[in-house]
Amino acid sequence: MVIIFSRKLEEKEREFLLRELKQQGVQPHLVEGEKTILVAKASFPVMESFSDLPIERVVTVDTPFPLTHRSFCPTGTLIQIGEVKIAPDVITVIAGPCAVESETQILQAAEIVKRAGAHLLRGGAFKPRTSPYSFQGLGEKGLELLAKAGEQFDLPIVTEATSPENASLVAAYADVIQIGARNMQNFELLKKVGQLKQPVILKRGMSATIEDWLLAAEYILSFGNFQVILCERGIRTIERFTRNTLDLTSIPVVKDLSHLPVLVDPSHGTGLREKVVPMSRAAIACGADGVMVEVHPQPDQALSDGPQSLYPDQFKKLMSDLEVVGILVGKELKREKPLELFTPDGEQKEFKPPKIAFLGKEGSFSSQVVRRSFGQEVEQVPSLTFREIFEKVSMGEVTYGVVPIENTITGSIHNNYDLLLEFSSIYLVGERFIRVSQHLGIFPETKKEEIQVVFAHPQGFAQCSRFLESLQGVRIMDVGNTEEAARRAWEFGQGGACISSEEAITRYGLSMAEEEIEDNPRNFTRFIIISTRFEPVTDHDKVSCVYSVENRPGALFETLQLFAENQINLLKLESRPFPGKPWEYMFYLDWEGNLVEPEFKTVLAELSKRTVFLRVLGSYRNRWRQPTT
Ligand code: PEP
Ligand code: MN
Repeated sequence: MVIIFSRKLEEKEREFLLRELKQQGVQPHLVEGEKTILVAKASFPVMESFSDLPIERVVTVDTPFPLTHRSFCPTGTLIQIGEVKIAPDVITVIAGPCAVESETQILQAAEIVKRAGAHLLRGGAFKPRTSPYSFQGLGEKGLELLAKAGEQFDLPIVTEATSPENASLVAAYADVIQIGARNMQNFELLKKVGQLKQPVILKRGMSATIEDWLLAAEYILSFGNFQVILCERGIRTIERFTRNTLDLTSIPVVKDLSHLPVLVDPSHGTGLREKVVPMSRAAIACGADGVMVEVHPQPDQALSDGPQSLYPDQFKKLMSDLEVVGILVGKELKREKPLELFTPDGEQKEFKPPKIAFLGKEGSFSSQVVRRSFGQEVEQVPSLTFREIFEKVSMGEVTYGVVPIENTITGSIHNNYDLLLEFSSIYLVGERFIRVSQHLGIFPETKKEEIQVVFAHPQGFAQCSRFLESLQGVRIMDVGNTEEAARRAWEFGQGGACISSEEAITRYGLSMAEEEIEDNPRNFTRFIIISTRFEPVTDHDKVSCVYSVENRPGALFETLQLFAENQINLLKLESRPFPGKPWEYMFYLDWEGNLVEPEFKTVLAELSKRTVFLRVLGSYRNRWRQPTT
């Protein structure tokens, strides 16, 4: 049982509490941070006499790890490390060598992982090795070098403390302290890091049950440090082809049992670099909040764990794969900062929250995309129509606009293709995919058979047609967007229902009657980010353009032939009526490339000769690359 007080108790309050409980035979443990938290092994009645104490919340779950248990923080713990966060809607990647070996090695490693988009840099300075004759790490010198690399490449650093004695030294350098598998039950070390301020990554011991692991976390929490991140790194089984058996079952189990974020370390989990990428994909797919992987500039020369360390190119591929898997499970892998944080020469400007226009209000799918793409600190500018979004962007009222452009089930959103052509000062500067899950929300206390009316956006109805057939005699009402559907159901009251997003259903206090009611679970929407600020770079790997050709045999073929001859992959071709010219068409083409490298520039110059009209709509990073094996 846990009692959370709304502030730190004063000395006399604490004495009173302890005295009262002693009389009842209860021996509590007090955690003192900003607030006092009382933990008792068994439940006891919260007496009348406690009513003068500032009690915020009482949690009475029967578990050996009450502070670690999900009921302590049902929405999940969010860890913030500088600008990096570990949270339910993002994928966090920690990468770097097993051990810091030299200045050159760690600086090279930091540059490699930073360029590929890692969020934190790892590297051991105190290495707990199975053999006393193996490389033991550089100690404090290693910490210094790691800190230097972290600073140079703007990456927070993660490194291991192996004893209560070196924990304070590690804490003087590290942004995150790692407790290794071999030390998971080093209770003096757990107590020590429980008193430190830094977040702690707690690896699962190689022969630890999930309960042992959560009890080890409980030690850290019970000493006042609630910033704990669990990390599954494989356990010892009878299997010897892999170094350990990566127990991914533990991820959904721990996610249910605990509010703490969970990472997966597939490097130690498998011991084989070729297995690291597939197991990282699996980790994210089964609900992990991120991965920690070993990457080395020259794995063959690594002083420790070379065979499981990724080559730089493998790590780059891992990042692309995780980005795609993240789209499937609703987690975003952030690899770049929003464009306007940089002046053209790459220097950081003073931060001013950018304004982003989108359709609908908070809770719509578009607003989810805004939040995922730009974070919480932007100013969201709700808009009523797509045209209004384009107007706000072109007038400079907002820096970016976010609009849907196609859905995997219902196809292209032609209105936005037409607006892209009409607003010639606007460019397409990014894309985002989200999985669209539709849910049935109903007014509280209404039973399914009592539903009189269902509100939804026409796209919502189209995506759930089979489900709607199962609702007999129910009125169907079209509304402008997902958020409005939930609001109207709420306003309708008893008998009202909606097809909407989880976020909007929760926001309006409706009950979730049925989840994921869309006909086809492969329901993804591609959103584009539009802006008048456009800076093509070589990192872009997707170009969108629109053109028209002469009305004669072979004219369209000749434009496409150009891409075939130059081995350029086409991603999409869409035709739309030419405004004001009946039965003539514009072709929208997406292709793999950028606008900076000479080979692509030449193709574009040639394309303009083979077309009557050509406009480049933008270049950006392709967010949907199929993971490869
Ligand atoms: C490490 O991360 O380098 C390490 C030693 O891991 P583990 O404690 O999981 O073996
Ligand atoms: Mn290692």
